[in-house]
Amino acid sequence: MKYAIIGSGVAGIAAIDAIRSVDRSGEVVMIGDDPHGFYSRPGLAYYLTGELHDKALYPRTTDEYRKMNFRYVKGQVKNIPRETHQLKLDGQADFNYDKLLIAVGAQAIPLDVPGANLEGVFKLDHMNDAKRILKHARRGKTAVVVGGGITALELVEGLLARGMKVHYLLRGSRYWGSVLDEQESRIVEARLQMEDVTLHHHTQLVEVTGKNKRVSGVRLADGGTLTCSLVAYAIGIRPRLELAKQADLRVERGILVNEYLQTSDPDIFAAGDIAQVYDPLTGRSALDSLWSSARGQGFAAGLNMAGKATVYVKSTPFNVTRLAGLTTTIIGVVGGGQDEDLVGIARGDSETWRQLPDCMVAQTGFDVNHLRLMVGEQRLLGAVVMGDQKLSFPLEKIISENIDISPIREKLLNPKSQIGDVVAEFWGSLRN
Ligand SMILES: Cc1cc2nc3c(=O)[nH]c(=O)nc-3n(C[C@H](O)[C@H](O)[C@H](O)COP(=O)(O)OP(=O)(O)OC[C@H]3O[C@@H](n4cnc5c(N)ncnc54)[C@H](O)[C@@H]3O)c2cc1C
Repeated sequence: MKYAIIGSGVAGIAAIDAIRSVDRSGEVVMIGDDPHGFYSRPGLAYYLTGELHDKALYPRTTDEYRKMNFRYVKGQVKNIPRETHQLKLDGQADFNYDKLLIAVGAQAIPLDVPGANLEGVFKLDHMNDAKRILKHARRGKTAVVVGGGITALELVEGLLARGMKVHYLLRGSRYWGSVLDEQESRIVEARLQMEDVTLHHHTQLVEVTGKNKRVSGVRLADGGTLTCSLVAYAIGIRPRLELAKQADLRVERGILVNEYLQTSDPDIFAAGDIAQVYDPLTGRSALDSLWSSARGQGFAAGLNMAGKATVYVKSTPFNVTRLAGLTTTIIGVVGGGQDEDLVGIARGDSETWRQLPDCMVAQTGFDVNHLRLMVGEQRLLGAVVMGDQKLSFPLEKIISENIDISPIREKLLNPKSQIGDVVAEFWGSLRN
């Protein structure tokens, strides 16, 4: 059997692990166009701030790769002639496959304003982007960041850590309004202001201005200007659909796959940020941009490619991240409103979070330790835990395992309750 995998991200690597757990002898080829191969993309944020060395972002050793027994080809797949089960590469010999996985991820939506091609305008997709940003960042100089979600804040934090003054432009009235509620957005914004970030609400960048082909400032929709030497943006991501479209596979926002991660061609699978995955429990197909989802999907796809039929059951979307230095865990369905700063999904984000559940909201804490629960009829549907994280593990279990919360529901919805204590006590009783 000949397996081919396009993309050297976590979904592709997990697929090889799965194939090898079933088939020790089949031929496996991975084709990847990132010169740095497989590394932790979420870790790029810590590399930007200087908390991690780039070497710390590579999860596997050469010896571990050797044991996986696959061939790695550096290159870009240009075309998939499906009728002949072939892959066409840029300037290299063609490959044949019996089973193919497309795991090419997503890319930043480009900033569509005049001057966006000037030297000093950056996105954050790859290791090379992070390296370019670090090369360009200068202590004491000024940067402008635009966009929303986790990546925009990672850019703000990274540039601050490198000694830059940062203006953060928000088109809307608050930070990450599609996932956070008003109070949570304000907690994050207050912390940014404490770090001397200059926040501009209702502010739209309309042009990046330059001198000698380098960034010298930005022009705003209200006619104002800011002087700066660097502009960084994170306005959302888009699955890389070009290959799938050329190959005439069924696509919507991502490549449509069934619960076996199989595309409209039964010999071609898709997993990770590129895949719009059918969830048999809800009947919906959704995009995720989460490391853990990409790994889970890649693994399930690999098993299916190797002939071990495995339904991918979408786990509760879960992300632990840092927002303006505040550890924040987002679990399950958390609703949310408008977000003018993002076009579609962001990095470290799930479409599932945005679904507006039929539930009541219970919350506590007005400062750094904040807890919000989405309380359904008999179970918890989602939670946002900011600051103190001692409840994130119990909440993840209570939500993902659909535990009946009838015994505490009334208490949770009583505005006088300390909902954190109620959950902690309930968790204690479950464990007993
Ligand atoms: C800055 C940043 C912060 C993030 N933060 C979080 C977080 O806090 N929490 C979280 O859960 N997730 C986070 N993510 C998202 C997470 O990293 C992704 O969900 C995950 O990496 C997706 O894995 P993947 O294998 O699907 O795709 P990718 O990791 O994108 O890998 C796809 C690979 O395919 C290659 N490729 C594309 N086209 C071709 C082609 N034609 N031929 C050959 N190779 C090709 C690409 O270059 C890339 O190397 C973050 C991502 C970034 C960039």
